[in-house]
Amino acid sequence: MSDSQSNKDQQKHQQRQQKVKEQVDAKVAAADKVQGIFQVITGNGKGKSSSGFGVVARCVGHGNKAVVAQFIKGMWECGERNLLEKAGVPFEVMKTGFTWETQNRDTDTIAAQQTWQKAKQWLADESIDLVLLDELTYMVTYDYIDLEEVLDAIAKRPKMQSVIITGRGAHRKLTDLADTVSEVRNVKHAFESGVKALEGFDY
Ligand code: ATP
Ligand code: MG
Repeated sequence: MSDSQSNKDQQKHQQRQQKVKEQVDAKVAAADKVQGIFQVITGNGKGKSSSGFGVVARCVGHGNKAVVAQFIKGMWECGERNLLEKAGVPFEVMKTGFTWETQNRDTDTIAAQQTWQKAKQWLADESIDLVLLDELTYMVTYDYIDLEEVLDAIAKRPKMQSVIITGRGAHRKLTDLADTVSEVRNVKHAFESGVKALEGFDY
């Protein structure tokens, strides 16, 4: 490539980058609202709960207060819980096994309601910066928790409080209310080729 061609390319690149910078600067300037954020992380791919816990770690890392309600108690010990409880993050975990394992609607509803009552208190507590409602979507799907009650509690929460809901098949009304919605798509998963869930990676 000749020197003049290379200079032209460089100039073109700079012009493009300048345009991108102007667009980004304009968007940054327009985003001037200061408020808590409601995020829904849904979809069939792996990475929903771990993403939610990542934000909890981020929050705690800044010295802010985060709490976690887990609506499905997994079969395995949750690695994030072991770490985050040591960092002072309160956990409220549903006192039942996998919902589809117990198959008992009455006891599952009671367990879901108990966890939800705690979550509701947190959603009204101004001192809490972030509430992670892990796997809440299923509670709404199974009708263990009333959707309108969830929407109401989130809508009326303190202005600076953020909320994250994870789980597959998020109800449309949840994603409509949310500020940020991410859908994790399953491209492939190790489990499908016979790889066992791995401690410290999957849970
Ligand atoms: P993670 O907790 O790893 O972020 P997740 O919250 O997105 O995963 P869940 O739907 O809550 O996923 O499922 C919990 C468990 O199921 C995890 O051990 C995860 O690795 C596994 N899993 C997630 N997606 C898939 C999938 N598409 N196929 C099989 N197993 C999956
Ligand atoms: Mg999950």
